[in-house]
Amino acid sequence: MYDLLITGGTVIDPASGLNGRADVATSDGKIAAVEPEVARGAEARETLDATGLLVTPGLVDLHAHIYPGCTPLSVDADPLMARSGTTTMVDCGSVGAATFAGFRRYVVEPSRCRVLAFVNISVIGLVAMPECGYGRFVDSNAAFQCIEQNRDLVVGVKVRGSRNALGEDNTIQPVWMAIAAAAAGNVPVIMHLGDPPPALEQGLEVLRPGDIVTHSFKGQPVTRLVDHAMRVKPQVRAARERGIKFDIGHGSGSFSWAVSHALAEQGFWPDTISTDVHTSSIKDPISIDMPNAMSKMLHLGMDLEAVVRASTLEPARQIGWDDRIGTLAPGREADVAVLALEEGQFSLTDSYRQTEQASRRLVARHTIRGGQVIGA
Ligand SMILES: [Zn+2]
Repeated sequence: MYDLLITGGTVIDPASGLNGRADVATSDGKIAAVEPEVARGAEARETLDATGLLVTPGLVDLHAHIYPGCTPLSVDADPLMARSGTTTMVDCGSVGAATFAGFRRYVVEPSRCRVLAFVNISVIGLVAMPECGYGRFVDSNAAFQCIEQNRDLVVGVKVRGSRNALGEDNTIQPVWMAIAAAAAGNVPVIMHLGDPPPALEQGLEVLRPGDIVTHSFKGQPVTRLVDHAMRVKPQVRAARERGIKFDIGHGSGSFSWAVSHALAEQGFWPDTISTDVHTSSIKDPISIDMPNAMSKMLHLGMDLEAVVRASTLEPARQIGWDDRIGTLAPGREADVAVLALEEGQFSLTDSYRQTEQASRRLVARHTIRGGQVIGA
């Protein structure tokens, strides 16, 4: 007797190479079976008909801001996750070492969805900005202690490597401090790209293999990954070859159609697709969520299976959780997204209020977390 049977859908699970018609069964919060004909003769407490729909691992959003009441940019995670197929959301630096206990108590514990965090190198997180403006707030030891004491939740260290995060001295020092904390804790750094200092090339140079650059598809000429002729900068290609990962982090200031088309034409796809959802980017006309960000990558010509991989398996890998989430392999957490790939004419707006018409879009139909249908 299974708890839940999802029947008739097209299962895309990049980790197992599966892309075809299959049923998914869950039991005790875990994936129990993924087979073409699980339904025949099997019994389940609940059945979901996914005929004509895509069934993927639950979406993993690597960049979100979900500490409302403590940081002004944050939104409520649960309703957003439930309607967007997102089963794991990683807060990206809203929380620092000094505010972490509250994050666990008021955000993580009551949430029906899985909430993890990149801890900010500033102890105050994004309570106020510039968060690194007062030197003593930038504390490698505090960030390291926070990692050590919260291994169940902390997956890395966030630093906003840009002018608007820094203090009067305007140095790259917070990036170095983030790397020091992350190295001691054996976790990645996620560095946001913004107006210098530090310059893009300077930031890329100090990151280590496995570290992540977020806001990779932004449009500002000084910060973007392409040069004046819209060619991918050689330092960017070198960084990727060295193992640096490039994340979308869409937000309300970091996704440009012009730059994205240029990157796509040169085959420079993101390693991970994430939202940077916050109080501005969640609103019209951007209305960001994972299916919206994924639809944009489809519109740019990214292959559907690659889009799913960059929204499930790849983010799970980068935060060291791929032994638990990011795939539908039996024994893993029963976190599942049921998505519709709709055809028609859809307006998709970038962070610079430019709109393009897409012929396809992804929309979440069901969100399943730990075998429980929680929404959409
Ligand atoms: Zn952000």
